[in-house]
Amino acid sequence: MYPHIQTVDSSPKLPEETDVTVIGGGIIGVSTAWALSRAGVRTTLLEKGVIAGEQSSRNWGWCRTMGRDEREIPLAMASLARWPELAAELSEEIGFKRTGILYACRDETELTQQRDWLARASHYGVSSRLLDAAELARYMPGIEPGAFVGALYTPDDGRAEPDVVAPAMARSAMRLGATLLQQCAVRGIETQSGRVHAVVTERGRVRTQAVVLAGGAWSSLFCRHLGIRLPQLKVLGSVMRTPPMTGGPEAALGTSGFSFRKRADGGYTIAHRGGTLAPIVPDSFRYLRDFLPMMRTSREEFRLRLDARLWQEAWHHRRWSNDDISPFERERVLDPMPSSRVLKEAMRQISDAVPFFRNIEIAQRWGGLIDVTPDSVPVIDSINTLPGFYLATGFSGHGFGTAPGAGQLMADLVTGSTPLVDPEPYRFSRFGKTGSKV
Ligand SMILES: Cc1cc2nc3c(=O)[nH]c(=O)nc-3n(C[C@H](O)[C@H](O)[C@H](O)COP(=O)(O)OP(=O)(O)OC[C@H]3O[C@@H](n4cnc5c(N)ncnc54)[C@H](O)[C@@H]3O)c2cc1C
Repeated sequence: MYPHIQTVDSSPKLPEETDVTVIGGGIIGVSTAWALSRAGVRTTLLEKGVIAGEQSSRNWGWCRTMGRDEREIPLAMASLARWPELAAELSEEIGFKRTGILYACRDETELTQQRDWLARASHYGVSSRLLDAAELARYMPGIEPGAFVGALYTPDDGRAEPDVVAPAMARSAMRLGATLLQQCAVRGIETQSGRVHAVVTERGRVRTQAVVLAGGAWSSLFCRHLGIRLPQLKVLGSVMRTPPMTGGPEAALGTSGFSFRKRADGGYTIAHRGGTLAPIVPDSFRYLRDFLPMMRTSREEFRLRLDARLWQEAWHHRRWSNDDISPFERERVLDPMPSSRVLKEAMRQISDAVPFFRNIEIAQRWGGLIDVTPDSVPVIDSINTLPGFYLATGFSGHGFGTAPGAGQLMADLVTGSTPLVDPEPYRFSRFGKTGSKV
């Protein structure tokens, strides 16, 4: 179930004191720690499981500007500008390639949606353009004639390998002086005179001037422990990969029924673009009002499902004190079962539309719980009710491609440097209840 991930060796011990503590060793936490270390800040990164064990190794590996919410485009563009330099900066191969990404449209309604996005996004300088069916066949040879009426195409978008990027950034941060511990859950925060003073972990306490919470799907729970209300839910993505294959398309393709992208080993990562399921959990009721508008407008992307997660979260997520075992130690790695129904449907649709994928072998299937905010835009901000506490979370299915920029922006806010992009769209206050008690 677990996708392959490169391993990272932890530092020998927890420091007594650090400048900044980053909670969470997904790609956002690691990218933040890397940027802070490059700025000469003493940084400690603490991960309850393993580096990239959750969303950051389970994603499709798309680095895209296409289709983004307008507020996210500057961050996606800034990140895309950094991806080509990363391998050299990290001194490791990470598989980034500008292969282009296409969204193929089955009918005029889908094409109009893409045309409307392009009209809104074009003044940001995106490289996207619309293709008719004949042009699409040129960029994606082997596609079944008549399956699609056209596509939105973004030549500058690309792909990288999720199982290596975050581990490579983590190793680079350590070479620059960062301390990194895995199997080290943070249970809570201690304050002094109203501001962050220390983090309490399962292995002891670290005095710290600032804390960046990059906890992915766990961030809302951690915030609730601090009395901060962060509306956030999880949706299940189901993914599969083939063994290495010969030939096949280089560009990545998304349609309403399936998506694929070539991997560095020559195999393909395949999924169903609309096939995300939202498990019903206690937070579904807690944040119902916040998410209702999204549920109404994206019914296809937000199908509710009752499963064992409801009882797990009701049991695991009860309140705890910083001396108790916390929920973060009870579940080291979120490793949900993928939906076989969703994956079967993706296989059926991809085989119909792209004959290259007929009768292929599937080497592995996995699931990943994606953390989403009510407007699908992340929070990258300081929390003014708790000085010294910062959030970099809620990447809503887009955090792999935007990580190089997001980590830099978070580091800029912590150090008070000129921000990489305007941080305004990522403010926590847009949820209207900054720091309100839960
Ligand atoms: C199936 C799927 C497909 C996706 N496809 C794409 C894509 O193609 N392109 C794209 O850009 N994005 C994609 N995404 C989204 C992307 O993977 C995420 O947005 C990104 O990985 C989020 O990174 P993160 O660091 O915020 O969270 P995570 O990777 O989930 O990391 C959070 C980490 O915090 C740790 N943690 C939490 N609480 C604590 C604590 N108290 N103490 C210590 N550690 C803690 C967790 O163990 C975890 O390792 C996809 C996601 C999925 C699941």
